[in-house]
Amino acid sequence: MLTWDELEGICNKCTRCGLCQTRTNVVFGVGDKNTDIMFVGEGPGENEDLQGEPFVGAAGKFLDDMLSIIDIDRSNCYITNIVKCRPPGNRDPEEDEQVACLDYLRTQVALIKPRIIVCVGRVAAKRIIDPDFKISKSHGIWLQRNDIWITAIYHPSALLRDPSKRPDTFDDLLSIRRKRAYLKPYIE
Ligand code: URA
Repeated sequence: MLTWDELEGICNKCTRCGLCQTRTNVVFGVGDKNTDIMFVGEGPGENEDLQGEPFVGAAGKFLDDMLSIIDIDRSNCYITNIVKCRPPGNRDPEEDEQVACLDYLRTQVALIKPRIIVCVGRVAAKRIIDPDFKISKSHGIWLQRNDIWITAIYHPSALLRDPSKRPDTFDDLLSIRRKRAYLKPYIE
């Protein structure tokens, strides 16, 4: 298996899809590589593309606020996206772009070996959980795959657009905190 440095080096030079032509920076991921929990969004926006870090714009600030409710910050989780380069105009990443990028995420997961993966928003949930995933119906539901617990929450952009979804997300966050506490060994 590749090391983190090898993986990031390859990813930073990636030309596997057309997004390489318009990106400023590859947005590889940020956080603790020894964590138990990963958050996966859909793809970088404008601010992320400029700064090379995921979730740093308005939605990112809101994600930070959400995670602070359950004692998570960028130093104790890992945050990345389905696609590592910005889709122009903030459109959803296309199928071929997602497929071209997925090996980077697979290797990140294999290196971190998280106990929990949280899909942040519809695009990540459809890619990771089920192509027919309906975020309004199935957010907060848990499934287990290869010894990893997986769930989805609303994307922070959706919560900024529609505050009526926030109470549901609060419940989902508490469920993530409970799952994390349950999985944490008493003695490490
Ligand atoms: N939205 C995402 O899904 N990911 C980011 O990194 C920023 C905004």
